[in-house]
Amino acid sequence: MSEVNSEAIATISDRLNKIRTHLPTQVKLVAVSKYTSIEAIRAAYDAGVRDFGESRVQDAKIKQTELADLTDITWHMIGSLQSNKARAAIAQFDWIHSLDRLSLAEQCDRLIPELGKSPKLLLQVKLAEDPHKSGWSEAELLADLPQLAQLKHLNIVGLMTILPLGLDESQSHAVFSHVGELAAKLRSLGWDNIRELSMGMSADYAIAIKAGATMVRIGNQIFSGYQA
Ligand SMILES: *Cc1c(COP(=O)(O)O)cnc(C)c1O
Repeated sequence: MSEVNSEAIATISDRLNKIRTHLPTQVKLVAVSKYTSIEAIRAAYDAGVRDFGESRVQDAKIKQTELADLTDITWHMIGSLQSNKARAAIAQFDWIHSLDRLSLAEQCDRLIPELGKSPKLLLQVKLAEDPHKSGWSEAELLADLPQLAQLKHLNIVGLMTILPLGLDESQSHAVFSHVGELAAKLRSLGWDNIRELSMGMSADYAIAIKAGATMVRIGNQIFSGYQA
């Protein structure tokens, strides 16, 4: 093993240990590997990470192929998903965090039985105004629930959100808490399986955890300096 690799392994392992001291045991860490190298992913794997997040189907395919020997990785699709990539996403990923519109949900419902693969799905919600992000507002999601309920093949297990830039800590906490309240409301409407809250990234995961996150998606704080 080269000098650089052993240094990367030590650094990534140290960063992970530091992050883990802030994570309650029930919170799942998804290491966001979208910008990082295969070597850095292996370093994180060696440090115990088994959940990796990617934002592009094609980039993920290359990494999944190169890492095919690591058979116990759980792959998470976290990036926005074009319709023409839905088939590949269902085939390649164990989780899709970015189910953000009814048309995509309908498409997934057709593809899941055809492909014989049923990833866990999170509905992406946008509870603070953000022109740069997709996702259901609360009102839109409540309006779409009857149609979503018809899509019997979908394994929807929670909500995901990405905060807009520029919120302070208390505003961030308020939006994350609102996501948790929306999940509770959905459970009260019969959506009992909506238990997971995927929220929090490098900059705001501590706030997300205080507000009830069950999964955090962290890239930079693990991998910065180890770009592909
Ligand atoms: C890139 C990305 C992350 C990770 O962000 P960092 O700031 O690098 O921790 C999390 N979630 C989504 C949806 C992303 O696209």
